[in-house]
Amino acid sequence: MESYDVLVVGGGLAGIRAAIAAVEANPRIRVGMVSKVYPMRSHTVSAEGGAAAVMRPEDSYETHAFDTIKGSDYLADQDVVEAFVREAPIEIIQMEHWGCPWSRDEDGKISVRPFGGMTTWRTCFAADKSGFHMLHAVFQTSLKYPQIIRHDEAFVTKLLVEDSRCVGVVALDMKTGRFDAITARSVILATGGLGRVYAFTTNGNICTGDGMALAYRAGVGLKDMETTSRTKWSWVRATSSRAR
Ligand SMILES: Cc1cc2nc3c(=O)[nH]c(=O)nc-3n(C[C@H](O)[C@H](O)[C@H](O)COP(=O)(O)OP(=O)(O)OC[C@H]3O[C@@H](n4cnc5c(N)ncnc54)[C@H](O)[C@@H]3O)c2cc1C
Repeated sequence: MESYDVLVVGGGLAGIRAAIAAVEANPRIRVGMVSKVYPMRSHTVSAEGGAAAVMRPEDSYETHAFDTIKGSDYLADQDVVEAFVREAPIEIIQMEHWGCPWSRDEDGKISVRPFGGMTTWRTCFAADKSGFHMLHAVFQTSLKYPQIIRHDEAFVTKLLVEDSRCVGVVALDMKTGRFDAITARSVILATGGLGRVYAFTTNGNICTGDGMALAYRAGVGLKDMETTSRTKWSWVRATSSRAR
């Protein structure tokens, strides 16, 4: 039975980035990464448009946060959005250093464009293959860490829970048909979206919300977005409605 300090379920952009962050935080730990597909086949590759980040002096974290919250119809976790907009420019530069070939302006700066609900030129892109290039950059970077051990094409079917703590997973090795228990001191779920629960979606067949189902079956209540706190930015909404 394999055992890790950290086990990441998911080999998309979120999962690989989490695995790298874990070994960078502590190079002595062992990180397992389980993915039901080869990581480069994760759904992240389908993202074309780009990634928003405040990259110009005339832009601001506040407007990026507001555009993001408004784009979510005020359902986003606003504390997470605030943290996200501050991290985003750092991550864009990090991606650059890891080899992501961002499209550039003539002066050499990373290009930005208005996209994805942004009210200003804020979306960085790598031609029309942003997701592919970002995933490639983190995947290749992950290869330099021998502490990250991959279990490709292994389908997690259950979370192992002991004393109300997740202590690992059960995974079906799709090559052999064998079920394995993989234990860990901490488990990160980064299993992507659940577009396939809807009748119409641009998500591929792979996006079936497995992480949410795994957590729900393990007894974790799923948060109803409909109940997210709307108070913090409600004044902005009121002001912008009045302006319209
Ligand atoms: C057509 C399209 C265009 C998009 N364009 C943009 C864009 O321009 N900009 C933008 O920011 N976002 C865009 N998105 C959204 C973006 O692609 C996703 O939000 C993001 O890629 C999700 O990354 P992720 O790592 O969370 O999930 P994914 O890349 O989906 O990875 C999920 C991982 O979990 C693994 N996994 C899932 N279930 C299991 C299981 N049971 N057992 C083991 N492993 C499992 C999978 O194998 C995979 O490795 C777009 C999405 C679509 C569909």
